[in-house]
Amino acid sequence: MGHIALLAEACQHGGMSDFQAITYEVDGAICTITLDRPEVANAQNTEMIDEIDAALDLADADDAVRVVILAGNGKHWSAGHDLKALVGDTEPDRWRLMRETPEGKWHHEKVMYFDRCLRIRDFRKPTIAAVQGKCIAAGVMLACMCDLIVASDDASFQNPVLRMTGAGVELLVEPWEMPARKAKEFLLAAETFSAADAERLGMVNRVVPRAELRAATVELAERIALVPPTTAQVVKRSINKTLDLQGQRDAYDYHFQAHHWMHNTATALDALEARKAKGSMKEVFAEHRDDGEGS
Ligand code: ZN
Repeated sequence: MGHIALLAEACQHGGMSDFQAITYEVDGAICTITLDRPEVANAQNTEMIDEIDAALDLADADDAVRVVILAGNGKHWSAGHDLKALVGDTEPDRWRLMRETPEGKWHHEKVMYFDRCLRIRDFRKPTIAAVQGKCIAAGVMLACMCDLIVASDDASFQNPVLRMTGAGVELLVEPWEMPARKAKEFLLAAETFSAADAERLGMVNRVVPRAELRAATVELAERIALVPPTTAQVVKRSINKTLDLQGQRDAYDYHFQAHHWMHNTATALDALEARKAKGSMKEVFAEHRDDGEGS
């Protein structure tokens, strides 16, 4: 029996599975994938990224599922990539060792960040992110891969990685999610946008009280589930094709290369060395932060 068949069997009773970093539940036409590392604000490690991908395989194969919700357990939706895990010893050797060379780092980020994110963007069934609390850096990238975003009124969006030498994250979603001038403010000034800001800019579809996030997202998913599945999938694909024709895919490709050029500049490599000496990225960049929060 293949991996998917095993997982599908595990999910049949009660809709849960033996995933570690996420949970997977199906209720009628709606599947919910929940980021489930609340102790680290749902920082995305290899396990979580792999499990989201496997969960999408399940949702794709299950004809009952018409809409996928991507939720987060706990106070915050996602703090971004788990940078601590990447420099520690908990990640698979394959990726950890590979990242020690520029070639390997490019490959790791292409497979695990770039391709995996676009897989969500291109997923044939409609997707909705249900975002609460902090949504930071690669958290913003992940949320923006979904077709719709419902945010709770306590949600906030921030991508402060430029101060840490990063040329954004791997997919530069910002110019597509908000007007270019606001994208520059968001990235260059590390501005925090509230849920209300994000709604005004068109980055999120609606803002609801924290206590109503789940119900409001399910209600929206149920409305989408009224559309015959193939119709919904065809229209989703056409809208994405429109974005492609506007250059979104090419712009993403360009930025991924630029992002990697930046990784290998003296500016970025010196910062990486400094971090090794100090032990944590937080210490290295403490003086560049507004609030001391991790990303
Ligand atoms: Zn990177």
